[in-house]
Amino acid sequence: MDYKKIADLLFKDISLTTDDILQRYPKRKLKSDQIVTRFAPSPTGYMHIGNFFQAFISYNLAKNSDGILYLRIEDTDRKREVQEAKGVIYEILDHYGIKFDEYQTLDGKDIGDYGPYVQSQRKDIYKVFAKKLVSEGKAFPCFCKKTEGKEDVLKLREDKFIEDDEKEYDPCRNLSYKEVKSHLDRGESFAIRLKTKNQGHERIKFTDLIKGELEAKANAKDFVILKSDGTPPYAFAHAVDDTLMGTTIVVRGEEYISSTPAHLELFEALGFNPIAYCHNPLIYKLGENGNRRKISKRYDPESNMQYFSENGYPVESVLEYLLNMINSGFEIWRKNNPSLSWKEFKFNVNQITTVAPIFDIMKLNDISKNIIAQQNGEELYKNWLNYAQKYDKDLALILSENREKYIKLCQMDREGLAKPRKDIYNYGMMKNYFDYIFDVPKNIEIDENDKVLANDFISKYLKTFQMPRSNEEWFADVKKLAQQEGYATDNKLYKQNPMAYKGNVAKACEFIRLALTGRKNSPTLFTIMQILGEQEVKSRLERGF
Ligand code: GLU
Repeated sequence: MDYKKIADLLFKDISLTTDDILQRYPKRKLKSDQIVTRFAPSPTGYMHIGNFFQAFISYNLAKNSDGILYLRIEDTDRKREVQEAKGVIYEILDHYGIKFDEYQTLDGKDIGDYGPYVQSQRKDIYKVFAKKLVSEGKAFPCFCKKTEGKEDVLKLREDKFIEDDEKEYDPCRNLSYKEVKSHLDRGESFAIRLKTKNQGHERIKFTDLIKGELEAKANAKDFVILKSDGTPPYAFAHAVDDTLMGTTIVVRGEEYISSTPAHLELFEALGFNPIAYCHNPLIYKLGENGNRRKISKRYDPESNMQYFSENGYPVESVLEYLLNMINSGFEIWRKNNPSLSWKEFKFNVNQITTVAPIFDIMKLNDISKNIIAQQNGEELYKNWLNYAQKYDKDLALILSENREKYIKLCQMDREGLAKPRKDIYNYGMMKNYFDYIFDVPKNIEIDENDKVLANDFISKYLKTFQMPRSNEEWFADVKKLAQQEGYATDNKLYKQNPMAYKGNVAKACEFIRLALTGRKNSPTLFTIMQILGEQEVKSRLERGF
């Protein structure tokens, strides 16, 4: 067969050889334990938590081995404008501090020697390798008009291969030079397919760094390696790019395991050494019925990485939760090393979980509460303000115009305490959580029976009211008044004979708390009074119930 002639006919404009290309991508000079890995997202305008999970695993593997992490944008099958979608990817990676050693900047400058780092700019490279495969008889042009409906292809298949369900050989796999030429002369477009060497009964083994040795049916399908528009589907781009760019570990989702045999056949056909795979488990969620299901874009807002930034979760909270998912040893490490950065936590590729992690927002919130509890008031204020500047401009204005007041609020019950309050898990919740600071509480819930008592107690409290100078003073004032008014100051006595009292001191405090905050529970009332200021405290007390 005239494979070389066919290749030259199909790829008239490709004069470079694979050797020319291979010279452009020299082997990286690294020690054998330095990992080269990458994150290879498709610009969809959305970053799924599972994708970010991979990015984060790759980041850690490179970091822990003093290796290289690069970013490759896989945009070959994107018809629409991808610039905006790329922006989403860069923004999220940047937000989480995932830094790359090599990448292309948003304005198109390649940083690193193995670019272009955007696949749509590598089209000629794929053609050179496709041409080589055709010239060696390992790939062939296919003129089946797939785009004009599947039926054409199916019909052709039935004609030729109806008796064989083990393999999927394409009807065009043995076209002669003459046949190819006459198709081309008729102006027909073509795809390039791999001519599988397998018959359909072969099996192959391969090793996954997380899952160990796997065995599967070998590929026996003449699959497309170059579409009629000249772009490569994932498999071909993966084989060419990861080889040229010197990847030593491919981290990708376990949904790619089933196509790994096809990828391995491609590597062999191309004369490339296979690359180690690390197929990470997908992230699941528990459904209402208790069954687990993949976390999904459709049903779960937390599947979108933007959910966490929009709700103001600290970066470390999300990253630490993901580390928890990657390696269960992280939790113990964190307990033993409460003040170290998560970056100090090291793990190997074979320590990555094999069990599908289950996303649980409560767990994330717990981690996040601890992380926020470690911030001092000023830090918390700054982070809250940063968040508001992005997601709630009105709030940002209030916060920045009343800096001292809100720093005080953020300091409340946390600074200098051995056990700071652990109640806030993201910055987005703070406005609601402290709504009584921003606004007079409305529709306060209070028992009808208590209303008269409460109004009576509060009006007496107001009469002699002076802004307390300390927590002790404020409590002493209330206690004194409560006692005068017939509230029990000794709980034991109160319990023995509740009918003899209007209530206990705690009840009296509750009335004030309700009037000031609209809630039965709140952080220290003394501090809240200071934040509200004398004027506002009095006016809220005057309103009563
Ligand atoms: N673009 C592919 C994806 O987003 C990359 C998979 C890989 O990392 O190889 O799924």
